[in-house]
Amino acid sequence: MSTPAIATSYETVIGLEIHVQLLTASKMFCACPVTFGAPPNTLICPVCLGLPGSLPVLNRKAVDLGLRTAVALGCTAQPTSQFHRKNYYYPDLPKNYQITQYRYKVHPPLAIDGSLEIPREDNLVPGGTGRRIGVRRVHLEEDTGRLVHAEQHGRIRYSLIDFNRSGVPLMEIVTEPELRSPQEARTFLARLRAVLQAIEVSTGKMEEGSLRCDANVSLRRPGAELGIRTEVKNMNSLRSVERALAYEVERQRAVLDRGQPVEQETRHWDERRGITFSSRTKEEAQDYRYFPEPDLVPIAVAPQWVAQVRASLPELPEAKRRRYVATYGLPEYDAELLTSSAAMARFFEETVRLFPHPKAACNWLVGDITAYLNVAGKEIDELPVTPAHLAELLQLVERGAISGRTAKEIVAEMLAQGRRPEVIVGERGLAQISDEEALARIVDEVLAEHTGPVSEYRAGKTQALTFLVGQVMKKTRGRANPEMANRLLKEKLKS
Ligand code: ADP
Ligand code: MG
Ligand code: ZN
Repeated sequence: MSTPAIATSYETVIGLEIHVQLLTASKMFCACPVTFGAPPNTLICPVCLGLPGSLPVLNRKAVDLGLRTAVALGCTAQPTSQFHRKNYYYPDLPKNYQITQYRYKVHPPLAIDGSLEIPREDNLVPGGTGRRIGVRRVHLEEDTGRLVHAEQHGRIRYSLIDFNRSGVPLMEIVTEPELRSPQEARTFLARLRAVLQAIEVSTGKMEEGSLRCDANVSLRRPGAELGIRTEVKNMNSLRSVERALAYEVERQRAVLDRGQPVEQETRHWDERRGITFSSRTKEEAQDYRYFPEPDLVPIAVAPQWVAQVRASLPELPEAKRRRYVATYGLPEYDAELLTSSAAMARFFEETVRLFPHPKAACNWLVGDITAYLNVAGKEIDELPVTPAHLAELLQLVERGAISGRTAKEIVAEMLAQGRRPEVIVGERGLAQISDEEALARIVDEVLAEHTGPVSEYRAGKTQALTFLVGQVMKKTRGRANPEMANRLLKEKLKS
């Protein structure tokens, strides 16, 4: 007798390696400026070109930003840490080695053993605790150059190299394999990004490559040892991290269900096709021959430096979220959304300073404005709109100068063009008609035009009033103050 097939249940195990471009003015080991979008090969010198005889000098600001991150994530900064050479040959790496930190027992990285709390997947209970995800280490390294492939008829004809990015300061953050679903991985990354932005360590812009994430994923029977993992690369948005992992989980599940082993390999995410594909070559299983960088002394971090960093850190998103709930009385979910980006939180607080009704400001930000930002794929500080504009819009609604519906109509224009709502309202003649005399004239017209409903109302059919109010709204293209229209109609119908 054969046993019926039962779908095996696996536990998903995910660990992330996150590369963060640090917000420094100059490169990691030379004085070349760090600027996004400069013409190719204009921000270079012998050091970042890896010319023989040039000597690297460590950027103190980069270490400081690494320490800010370490403290924010509760990591232990190491009293001394050492740079290493990671040797490999590739055209974007002029020295044939990358200067990075390596976790030799004797030479620890900048900081180790921290954690970051993320909300539980299923609930955002007031005062509830989330899940703590371990952070294994934080280390510093330099970026490589960038290859630009010239394609013709879908084939690469030749490649060009831009060394502007060569030597740009990077920080790598490595988590423990403690994330349990693609969605949780995405939440973690969003939270981490909010922290990095809040402490002004990075812009966190994935589309510009300032935040890059490699995701390690494996499946196992619950409680069993860790399974064999694959490493997925090349995702450039939070959404693609979640999608790539979801695809990879299903692919591994199918392999395991067929009774085959998962192969340990690096896979690339293809955004357009929505799949991961193997990019393994025999050479990739290589030995990087790490050894301590002889041209750089170890980084020594005195306890006072860490204390100074700790004292200078601003409020972190987690604390901000709790404060929004406690002092503004916002729902947990809304507070989470407002604090998920530093720009959004700043915008909210400034709006509330100008117009002290946190709930109203919050509703617009998490509602229409977030919807707009999602479609535009932008952060609020990338738009020309300012908190003063939103505060003005809220005031117009509160004063009854415009209806809520009109506010919804002009919000997109306000966001996209950064124009004052009052100006838009004036131009488009959208001001609510609250002038009693003007509205009374329109009410008279409506009553004269609809004698049927008027007599019905007078005969006791009070629903006819709704119809008449509707006619007033129609005549004014929705600009009549509804309460006033209602009152005027009733008064006139009585007489
Ligand atoms: P590497 O040699 O690539 O630096 P590490 O052991 O430091 O390897 O792990 C790199 C990342 O892979 C970490 O984020 C870690 O949590 C994750 N990881 C390690 N083993 C597994 C596994 N079996 N499944 C999922 N993730 C894993
Ligand atoms: Mg790795
Ligand atoms: Zn340089």
